[in-house]
Amino acid sequence: MEFAKMFADSKNVCIFAGYFEAIMDTLRDFSIPFKGLKAGEHEFEFQLNRAFLDAIGDEELVDVDVVAYVTMTKAASMLTFDIELDGTAIVECDRCLEELSFPVDAGDTLYVKFSEEEYEFDGEVMWLNPADDQINLADYIYETLLLALPYQRVHENIEDCNQDMVARFQVVTEEEFEEMTQPNESSLAGGDNGAMLAALKSKLEEEEK
Ligand SMILES: [Zn+2]
Repeated sequence: MEFAKMFADSKNVCIFAGYFEAIMDTLRDFSIPFKGLKAGEHEFEFQLNRAFLDAIGDEELVDVDVVAYVTMTKAASMLTFDIELDGTAIVECDRCLEELSFPVDAGDTLYVKFSEEEYEFDGEVMWLNPADDQINLADYIYETLLLALPYQRVHENIEDCNQDMVARFQVVTEEEFEEMTQPNESSLAGGDNGAMLAALKSKLEEEEK
C-alpha cells in the first residue's frame, strides 16, 4: 500500500516535471542567441498558439493563432527588434461570454542596450548585461499581443451576442442604464437617481447570488 502510494506520488511528480519542462521548452523557443550572429538584419518567426499562452501563464485569452515576425538589426552596441504580429485572437465577449475573434495586426519596436548596471525596462529600451548572449522575447511579444487587442472585448452589435446570456446578465438595457447614470432634467429637478442606482446595484448583486 505504502509502495503503491509512493509510486503514485513519484509518477505525479514526473508528470509535473514533464509539464514544466514542456513550458520551459515552449518559452525557450522565443530566445534569440544574438551573440553568434553577424551585424545586420536577421529575421525570425514565432508561432503564438494555446501552448504559448499556457506557458506564459495567460488567463485573458481563449486562444491565439498569431505569427510574430521579428526583424533583429544587430549593431555594435545595440539591438533593434521590429516586431509585427499578424493573426487572430479569440477572447470571451465581456457581455455574453461567447467566444469572439479579433484580428491581430500590430507592430512595435524594442531597443536593447547593454550595461553592467541594472536598469528597469521603460517600455522601449531593455537593458542586458554585456555577458548575456541571448534574449528571450516571449514576455515582450505577449505584452504586445495584449496591447493589440481592444480594451472593450464585446461583440460589435449586441444582436450578435448570445441573447440568453445577455438577458441573464443585463437586467436593464444599456439605454435605460445610460438614462439612470446621465444627469438629466429629473435629477436637476431633484430626481432620485442615486437611490435608483443603489436599487439597481443591489438588484444586480441579488441576481448574481
Ligand atoms: Zn457577446
